[in-house]
Amino acid sequence: MADKDSDQIIVMKFGGSSVADAQHIKNVAKIAISEKERGKSVVVVVSAMGKTTDGLIKLAAEVTDNPPVREIDMLLSTGEQVSIAMLAMTIEAMGYKAKSMTGWQVGIKTDAEHTRAKILNVRDKVMREELRDGNILIVAGFQGITEDGEITTLGRGGSDLTAVALAAALKADCDIYTDVDGVYTCDPRIVPNARKLDIISYDEMLELASLGAKVLHSRCVEVAKKFNVPLQVRSSFHPDVLGTKVIKEVKEMEDIVVSGVAFNRNVAKISVLGVPDKPGIAANLFTVLGEAGIIIDLIIQNVSRDNINDISFTVSIDDLKRAMDVLEKFKNENSAARIVADNEVAKLSVVGVGMKSHANVAATMFQALAENNINIENIGTSEIKVSVLIREKDLDKAVRAIHEKFNLSEGH
Ligand code: ADP
Ligand code: ASP
Ligand code: MG
Repeated sequence: MADKDSDQIIVMKFGGSSVADAQHIKNVAKIAISEKERGKSVVVVVSAMGKTTDGLIKLAAEVTDNPPVREIDMLLSTGEQVSIAMLAMTIEAMGYKAKSMTGWQVGIKTDAEHTRAKILNVRDKVMREELRDGNILIVAGFQGITEDGEITTLGRGGSDLTAVALAAALKADCDIYTDVDGVYTCDPRIVPNARKLDIISYDEMLELASLGAKVLHSRCVEVAKKFNVPLQVRSSFHPDVLGTKVIKEVKEMEDIVVSGVAFNRNVAKISVLGVPDKPGIAANLFTVLGEAGIIIDLIIQNVSRDNINDISFTVSIDDLKRAMDVLEKFKNENSAARIVADNEVAKLSVVGVGMKSHANVAATMFQALAENNINIENIGTSEIKVSVLIREKDLDKAVRAIHEKFNLSEGH
């Protein structure tokens, strides 16, 4: 429960498209001021303006193929520093007190995993002091500092995580303002008749986010669930429209079999062909990948002839090169015939807590794909999701067909 002092604190987060230029920043300033006018203490977390972070990554690529991760963090963290200062100036110009602060100034401590650092703890002292002084506090998203004083970043889309971590530290609510007015049954850019959800459970949102729905960063949802942060997604362009609340699972949610469809084009399939069919091979394979920090998914093993197996699985495209390097050694040591990489694939998933108590979800999903002549390559399931790997060129058609098959635009 929120303590008395914190009852009134709200953490608001605005993504890149919401602060893309001066006009947008003025809009954000007005939304923050209106919360202040309602008597709340306001903390605003912002991302870098527009596509700044992409631009900085491209800039680095112009000088090297292999930039040191420490320097990448030094570079990328500048994006948010521009937007916090711009927003603070704008709010001051509108006659309200505001102060911008970097991740390290407010005390967001992380581990030393540059470009994908984990938040270890957040101090609330400095923030509370600033709020007590009446400032609208503007904090840079996506960045933190290590024990040794090194600047880190939290992984792409990590400003959502900053916002929730600050809300957890302040025992405040967290509103994520973005360019859509809530969480939909699927990305509305691909499925125009997708339906906005009024509520979604932390677990479903966590699955959707980790399976590719970038409306929220998956670790942000994880932290919100862990610390029970009241989390809401809403539109910075229509701030009066009710958004989507991410809440603890309630019994009625189980009546809804599928809540949403997510997809991820950023995956690659690796096939390890012609490995001996004997105990220990899969263990060796996934141990070397695990030791290299590579996360694998959607595993399939085919028994072919003469005690020879093929094993295929998916990795993030970002890890593909590293995985192939590690597997070259595995191939030689385990007498595998060939390792083949394929990045023209995409992962498509359906998610819903109702799957726990309803059969046939996989069958319905596979039927929709069959009716559209789309071949399934790998499959993975959990209690609340079914994922398939298909050709990337079929993805949009497949997403729409599945959304339609489960009647998701109509609701329940
Ligand atoms: P921000 O810059 O505000 O962090 P993002 O681009 O990271 O915004 O996330 C918002 C985008 O997420 C939307 O524009 C939308 O295309 C996409 N998206 C993907 N899946 C969903 C979904 N299920 N519901 C809503 N938006 C989604
Ligand atoms: N600016 C960072 C990015 O583009 C963080 C964020 O936007 O959340 O990934
Ligand atoms: Mg985002």
